[in-house]
Amino acid sequence: MLVALAGGVGGARLLAGLVRVVDPTEVTAVVNTGDDMVLHGLYVSPDIDTVVYTLAGRANPVSGWGLATETWTVMDELATLGGETWFRLGDRDLATHLYRTHRLAGGASLREVTAELARARGVRIHVVPMSDDPVRTCLTLAEDAPGAPAGTEIAFQHYFVRLAHAVAISALRFDGAGTARPAPGVLDAIGEAGAVIACPSNPLVSLGPMLAVPGVRDALRARRDAVVAVSPIVAGVALKGPADRLLAELGHESSAVGVARLYADWAGTLVIDEADAHLADAVEAEGVRAVVAPTVMSTPAVAASLARTVLDAAR
Ligand code: GDP
Ligand code: CA
Repeated sequence: MLVALAGGVGGARLLAGLVRVVDPTEVTAVVNTGDDMVLHGLYVSPDIDTVVYTLAGRANPVSGWGLATETWTVMDELATLGGETWFRLGDRDLATHLYRTHRLAGGASLREVTAELARARGVRIHVVPMSDDPVRTCLTLAEDAPGAPAGTEIAFQHYFVRLAHAVAISALRFDGAGTARPAPGVLDAIGEAGAVIACPSNPLVSLGPMLAVPGVRDALRARRDAVVAVSPIVAGVALKGPADRLLAELGHESSAVGVARLYADWAGTLVIDEADAHLADAVEAEGVRAVVAPTVMSTPAVAASLARTVLDAAR
C-alpha cells in the first residue's frame, strides 16, 4: 500500500504517473481540502476535482483546472443575471458540485462523496480528503488589493482566482485546523504504507493545510524514513502558481534547499530536479537525503519515470 499527499496539479500529475507503474488499487491519495469553498450554495473542492479529473483522463490540459470539452452556458446566463462569475464553473463541472452538495446535505461525509465521485469517473486509486471537517486556508494581504486593504484576511480562492495571486501575503492561517480530525483511515494508511509520497504540490498552501490537521505531522514523523517528497520548486521557481513567491514572502527560501528545510522533520528523502543537482549537498546538510532526477512532468512518460524514482528511493 502506498500513500500520496497531493494538492492539485502537481499532485495529480505524479499520481497519473504512479498509476502507470503500480496497481492503482494499492494507492491512497490524501488530498488537500484547504482550498474548498461554498459558491452559489454549492460545495466546491478544487484539489479533489483536479485529482479525479486528471486520473479519469478528463482534465482540461490548457487551463489546468476543470474538465476538457467544457461548455459555459450556465456561467453566461449567470453573467446576464449579474451573478458572481469570477470563479468559473463549467456546465459539466457543475454536475460534480451538484452531486457533492446534494450528498453532503443528505448526511454523507466528504470522504464518502469523494469515493463515489472517483468511482463514478472510473478512478481506481483511493482518493481521500485530508479531513471530513472544514479546514479553510486564509491569507493576510501584505499590500492593498482591489476592495481589500493591506492587513485584510481573505479566503484562498479570493487570493488565488479573484486576485490571480498577484498580491503579496504576510500571513497564512488554516481556519478550523485546530479541531479538524484526519479523515477516517488517513493516519492508519500513513502508519502502514510501504511508502509515503509527498507530491510536488505547493508546500505552504497544499501540504501546509494537511500538516496542520492534528495527528498528520506526527504520523509522518513516525514514518520519516519511508517518506519521499518531490520538490515543487525547480531552479528556484514554481512551475505553476505562487509557491515561489509565497515561500519568499513568508520568510522561507524559494529553492529545493528551502523545501528540504521545511520538510526535514517528516521527510527522509527529497527528490530534486536535475537543474538543482548542485544543491544536493545543501539539501543533505539539512538532514534530508537528496535524489536527483528529471521532475518536470511534461509528458506522462516523465511522470511515470518520476514515480519509479520515488518508489526506488523509498525502498
Ligand atoms: P494547485 O493546487 O493546482 O495549485 O497545485 P499544487 O498544490 O499541486 O501546487 C502547484 C505546485 O506544483 C507548484 O509549486 C508547481 O511548481 C508544482 N508542480 C506542478 N507540476 C509539476 C511538475 O511537473 N514537476 C514538479 N517538480 N513540480 C510541479
Ligand atoms: Ca490547490
